[in-house]
Amino acid sequence: MTQDSRYAVLFEPVKIGPVTAPNRFYQVPHASGMTNALPRVRAAFRETKAEGGWGVICTGACSIDPSSDDAPLPFASMWDEHDVRAHALMTEAVHRHGALAGVELWHGGASVMNRASRLPPLSPSGIPWMATHVGFMGNLRPKTMDRSDFRAVLKWQADAARRARSAGFDIVYVYAGMGYLGYEFLLPEYNHRVDAYGGPIENRVRFVREMIEATRDAVGKDCAVALRISLEELRARPGRNQESEAHEVISLLADLPDLFDVKMDSSPTDCSASRFTGEGSHEPVIDFVKRLTNKPVVGVGRFTSPDTMVSQIRRGILDLIGGARPSIADPFLPRKIKEGRVDEIRECIGCNICISSWHDGVPVRCTQNPTAGEEWRRGWHPEHIERAAREERILVVGGGPAGLECALTLGRRGHHVTLVEAGGAFGGRLAFETRLPGLSTWGRVLDYRLGRLNIMSNVEMFLGSPVGVDEILELAPDRVVVATGAAWTRMLYAPMEIPVGHLDHPRVFTPDDLAQGRLPEGPTLIFDFDNYYMGGVLTEHLAGQGVAVSYATPAGHASAWTIMTNELPLVHRALAQRRVCVTTLHVLTAFDGDTAVLKHVFTGEERRLACRSIVIVGLRSPRGELVAALEERAGEVAAAGIRSIERAGDALAPGAIVHAIHSGHRVARELDLGETGAPYRRDFPIVEPVISRS
Ligand code: ADP
Ligand code: SF4
Repeated sequence: MTQDSRYAVLFEPVKIGPVTAPNRFYQVPHASGMTNALPRVRAAFRETKAEGGWGVICTGACSIDPSSDDAPLPFASMWDEHDVRAHALMTEAVHRHGALAGVELWHGGASVMNRASRLPPLSPSGIPWMATHVGFMGNLRPKTMDRSDFRAVLKWQADAARRARSAGFDIVYVYAGMGYLGYEFLLPEYNHRVDAYGGPIENRVRFVREMIEATRDAVGKDCAVALRISLEELRARPGRNQESEAHEVISLLADLPDLFDVKMDSSPTDCSASRFTGEGSHEPVIDFVKRLTNKPVVGVGRFTSPDTMVSQIRRGILDLIGGARPSIADPFLPRKIKEGRVDEIRECIGCNICISSWHDGVPVRCTQNPTAGEEWRRGWHPEHIERAAREERILVVGGGPAGLECALTLGRRGHHVTLVEAGGAFGGRLAFETRLPGLSTWGRVLDYRLGRLNIMSNVEMFLGSPVGVDEILELAPDRVVVATGAAWTRMLYAPMEIPVGHLDHPRVFTPDDLAQGRLPEGPTLIFDFDNYYMGGVLTEHLAGQGVAVSYATPAGHASAWTIMTNELPLVHRALAQRRVCVTTLHVLTAFDGDTAVLKHVFTGEERRLACRSIVIVGLRSPRGELVAALEERAGEVAAAGIRSIERAGDALAPGAIVHAIHSGHRVARELDLGETGAPYRRDFPIVEPVISRS
């Protein structure tokens, strides 16, 4: 296929100081959960993106000194020569494909707790950054930087920059965003200094200026120097001479860095979930930067549409199209645009499961791309897959996320696949969930897979086809994959999370009932101990339908786990906007049709809530009937020549969609590998010292 000329502008080279990006696709620094302890996993993850056409590939936060220590959250380091080789693995991998490599050197200032290094965090004025924010809490307040601290930080940055150059990086960052040290100097709330670093904006910008100069001096003309800067807070602040302080900061620094990488201030707005925010959401905050500097500007916005990207360039908003999540969901996005295969793009759905991986301290996971993070460990490539040694006839039962991914991957391996779905539409749980408030973008999980499956001649798909053992015996495939999903139960939990039986009443519902179109009658209580999105989103859904709805949970927040996906603050805001009464720290113990009894998880105190219906959003249980029935008739199954029966997705272990997709993919890759199974390679740190070229 040929490139669409409308998109040619995206493939123009862009000069960034002394280096040149081969095109405008720029993978900005992003958390990947891959520390220097996983150098091969990391290099392969990033190499795949370079292979897929991203012109610049950056690291995530790379600490310049043990005084910037985010442990147990994952981060990279450039503390000494021992770190150089681990990074060089990545730069070599990226360079193999003609891309540039960037390193996001980083000092966390007052936003890190130095839990491992036990050094006092550094700050302009001793004020912590979000120190009481769930997930970031620490008990160590930062010290106020004195003269020797300034000298030290500038030296760490310069030394790290030199090491970065030795490691082969082409672009070296100064980070002044997201609450980290440089940014703290820019904001008067955190910077109360009365010396040359505090007060008017010209002074507050001084530290960032010195960091840029120190970096430039260290790398000379070998590397470009990028400034990553948050602008949300600054833009909201009127300037003395210009429209806002953001305008003033950019003007003051306009000629210093070779590149501006512009972003928002906090993870929930910078990396906002599609449930609450659309594509290109940064534009109103960062749209002015290019007017104030001649240096190239990169920014993000969960861009997956080439038309949106071209529009950003043509309208003079950005020079380089930044991508973090779109590059995880589809490392081959640029190549697909270049080769006129736009309909093959696996578009990011904005679920932020990738971010949750960082919060969990593990390598990145992605709902759309099951191969993310598995490139080296399991040898999975997002685009290429080995054909099966022997073509088999495989029946996949269930057309939800797991079944679709499994059928697609089996088809790509050259098997003859029959996919049967009992319902009238493909998508399983997604068929309902994508109709809930804010979740329509998740339909891309379905669209991508159906789009690919529909053009595969070796895959047949049938709707309205519930299959049981008899049908399976009649079809007599070589193998069966059961991806029949899971059902929500009416089970309740006691405060210590001990199951305490089911709550049975004609007006006790589960999300499955709502999916089938049943609308609870009268004032309704959503009782949620699933803690992910479903409880909150159903509450919004019912409120939107005019049902009087309240929400209760044993957790401390509504949809408590969504802290991991950056959604929690916005969930609370959405429920408040709907005037939903939220009760936390309570379990549901009884319901008589008119009153629900809620018990405080710590005090045991009871309170009564008048309601006519209850929706329990709690445990899910695999739909295991088919597998049980097949096992019961094992003799007939064997006689029919069926070699194996595998379960995939929720039918195996109920979980989020990301797990179902990964499971479906894994089963398809591994079901014919026999007893030895697939390798799961274990990465390890590289500790050999390397002599720096500097
Ligand atoms: P997962 O996330 O694991 O893919 P889902 O619950 O989303 O699980 O999807 C499972 C799909 O399997 C549903 O669409 C359901 O209708 C379908 N299904 C369940 N049992 C059968 C069956 N016996 N025959 C065909 N399809 C089935
Ligand atoms: Fe996008 Fe979700 Fe994948 Fe993250 S996990 S890259 S938000 S699809």
